[in-house]
Amino acid sequence: MDSAEANKQITYLRAQVARHDELYYRHAKPEISDFDYDRLKRELADLEVQFPPVAADESVTQRVGDDRTEGFARVKHRQAMTTLDNTYDEAELREFHARLAKALGTEDLAYTVEPKIDGVAVSLTYEHGRLTRAVTRGDGEEGDDVTANARTIRGLPPTLHGQPVPALIEIRGEVYLSVEEFRRINQLQEEAGEAHYANPRNLAAGTLKQLDTQLVASRRLEVVLYGLGHCEPPVADSQSGFQAQLAAWDLPVVEKFWAVRGIDAVCGAIRELDQRRRGFAFGTDGAVVKLDSFAQQAHKGVGYRGMGADGRAEAARKLSPRWACAFKFPPDRAETWVRNITIQVGRTGALTPVAELEPVLLAGTTVKRATLHNADEIARKDVRVGDAVLVEKAGEIIPAVVAVLVSKRPAGSAPYAFPQQCPVCTTAAVRVEDGVVWRCPNPQCPEKVRRRIEHFASKGCLDIDGLGEEIVDLLLHHGLIKSIVDLFHLTVDQLLPLKKSGEVWAGNLIAAIAARRGTDLWRVIHGLGIPQVGAASAKDLARTFRSLDALAAAPEADLVRIDGFGEKTAAAVRAWFAEETNRALLRELLAAGLRPTPPAESGSGLAGKVFVLTGTLPTLTREEAAAKIEAAGGKVSGSVSKKTHYVLAGDEAGSKLDKARALGVPVIAEAEFLRLLG
Ligand SMILES: [Zn+2]
Repeated sequence: MDSAEANKQITYLRAQVARHDELYYRHAKPEISDFDYDRLKRELADLEVQFPPVAADESVTQRVGDDRTEGFARVKHRQAMTTLDNTYDEAELREFHARLAKALGTEDLAYTVEPKIDGVAVSLTYEHGRLTRAVTRGDGEEGDDVTANARTIRGLPPTLHGQPVPALIEIRGEVYLSVEEFRRINQLQEEAGEAHYANPRNLAAGTLKQLDTQLVASRRLEVVLYGLGHCEPPVADSQSGFQAQLAAWDLPVVEKFWAVRGIDAVCGAIRELDQRRRGFAFGTDGAVVKLDSFAQQAHKGVGYRGMGADGRAEAARKLSPRWACAFKFPPDRAETWVRNITIQVGRTGALTPVAELEPVLLAGTTVKRATLHNADEIARKDVRVGDAVLVEKAGEIIPAVVAVLVSKRPAGSAPYAFPQQCPVCTTAAVRVEDGVVWRCPNPQCPEKVRRRIEHFASKGCLDIDGLGEEIVDLLLHHGLIKSIVDLFHLTVDQLLPLKKSGEVWAGNLIAAIAARRGTDLWRVIHGLGIPQVGAASAKDLARTFRSLDALAAAPEADLVRIDGFGEKTAAAVRAWFAEETNRALLRELLAAGLRPTPPAESGSGLAGKVFVLTGTLPTLTREEAAAKIEAAGGKVSGSVSKKTHYVLAGDEAGSKLDKARALGVPVIAEAEFLRLLG
């Protein structure tokens, strides 16, 4: 390559990296995997070294991304938040050690090896032991103030417990969504007929940047802390000592880190981490290796890249520590080919494209299908039937097609044409304005009918014993049901011919259906499959309106007033009940003997529960909190005992908190309390 070509390539790569930085940091919507991003950046960095004249100061390889967005106050970090050099290669890790050994004059160096958490970096400031601020990394020098959102994070103590309490300390960590919570949120999305979120890191980043604190609290963000920023007076003289201090303060820390000597032990620890990482609560895509001693970190010749001769940083966004390095594990990836692209029809009619793959072993499981998300995604990646593709499983996420191997594309292949009609009922598909999802609008679409009935009978709705997908299919196939109403008209005689010696089965199924006629109102509301209405919203509606008739007649103004209901949800509910076919369905359900039970008047899950309040809550006064508890049927008591069900603790909680811990009484923060109230 000559320098003109190199120049061109560098310009191209810089634009690419800048674009992906923007997508990742600012919009939390990356289009390529971390692995591909790192490769792009590495190619650019190598070229810039090879052709130094064009490697100007402002290259994207010399800076961290920038997550700052509109709507948040900006706060300067007291000590810059730096970024780590990455490697996927053990030889490079050994070079990292060799450089340090040379600078420090000894091979015998102590290191820590910690899990690299796939979350969103955050800096917490505690002043005299009280959490006063949470700030995102931003551009490294200045980030967004997300304190209100961080306060909703469970497991993040508003105060430091134990000694010593520094006058001021910046503690760095990572905000994440657990795999379990990520699944729960996607389950809710599915129940509400909405699209899945693609990965927990992006959802955590998007959530931390929400302006609606209520919404943030409804997603259970978590945090893990590991790093030290500015601190006065000093509290530790090594990374391992600082980790121990974090744990002593009762702050959330990594389940395991390794304190080892020498580079061979570092490599051993990384292998052990790789074995254990799937058991961690957070996603882990690598290991962070740090020189343990703070004195050695500050040694002349170690320090930071981007630091001038006078010891001052030219710009924090160019800083990266020479005493730390991230070793990343390659993603779980496999090559296979696309046998076919099929379209799945959802309960709400959403048409989701799926790649039917030649089965391939990936991270211990056989993968046969991968989601292609939507029509725009297929077009962007240009996935075609017959293409060789790379599939990837990042963390515990459903496999996705990450790239097409265009060089292996068979001759004569054509771009995939997204069907203009429902593959099941052939009705012309429609695309809602501003949405990316195509839908089948036909209310009688057999696939939608099948999925609606499955949903109605499922665990989260009527929970009809023995009425799973297979039986629903069987009943549909024999023409015994056409809608959810028909379930209540089934008879034992109709079922008998379906199975050999099926008397017991038929009797049990009919009894199970009959037993659910008086089920909870919210289960029926949820089971109706109203767009935007998942289990939580169904419970809100049941509590507020207490009958299907009242709900059907509720004006939109009353719906909007429900806590947590936006205009979108209210409008969706209103539109559903305005439709004559749905009104007819309700009449038929009531005629079939459905008599749902409204929630008990004495409040919901809090009836009879005893609360003790302590400390200052972030938004509620004590009086307001007490009123809410009593309105929900609970009681407020002045002192903690074994009969206390919950201690609701805010900032500066005192001895009541210690007593609760001693007695093993659950301690909850305001956000969790509001969730309990529903
Ligand atoms: Zn259809």
